[in-house]
Amino acid sequence: MSYVFAPPPLVSAPVVGLSARFPVHRIYCVGSNYRAHAQEMGHTGREPPVFFMKPADALVPVEAGTTGDLPYPSLTHNFHHEVELVVAIGSGGRDIPADQALGHVFGYAVGLDMTRRDLQAEMKKRSAPWCIGKGFDHGAPLGPITAVAQAGALLEGQISLSVNGAERQRSALRDMTWSVPEIIAHLSAAWALAPGDLIYTGTPAGVGPVERGDLIEAVGTGLEPLRVRVR
Ligand code: MN
Repeated sequence: MSYVFAPPPLVSAPVVGLSARFPVHRIYCVGSNYRAHAQEMGHTGREPPVFFMKPADALVPVEAGTTGDLPYPSLTHNFHHEVELVVAIGSGGRDIPADQALGHVFGYAVGLDMTRRDLQAEMKKRSAPWCIGKGFDHGAPLGPITAVAQAGALLEGQISLSVNGAERQRSALRDMTWSVPEIIAHLSAAWALAPGDLIYTGTPAGVGPVERGDLIEAVGTGLEPLRVRVR
């Protein structure tokens, strides 16, 4: 097949212990999935799940043991970190029941749902889509993916985030309002999930701004840490 110009490169993420990479299809995100964060954003925390997407090429895959570059984005004066457990889908499907959902998971990683909070707030005020606040270039840093077999009892663990060594966010994963199986069930009722999909599962309380030069470190139990420097 020929193209009128060179097609864009496939986006991919590293997998712990493998030279083969995880080819990325779509990036789904869950909003307000921890009650304390939902409350800090002005909700009760009991609302049904909210989904949005980021473009696959917003991914910033960071190799194990390295510090990724995160460019400070345009238009914002309030660039926020959100640490999240990321689910990497290995086999797709529609209307996946929650009790079969974990069979569709390839692995897990820790990721950052970076947010232009001022622009998101402006769009919320206008009841308009959040794209400009969430779906911007370099808006989805991701650490290496750990396959399910090695990740083990991950869902009993924690995620946390520090900026320049000072902790800002920490939560048990069991404090998610919607569990990973429930998220997969809800998502696959709305979209056909496909191998290569990534799901950012929502952030706990403690979101806040970062500035140029800040070092963000995100950690998940049993996962490779993710480190990025804001440039
Ligand atoms: Mn988020």
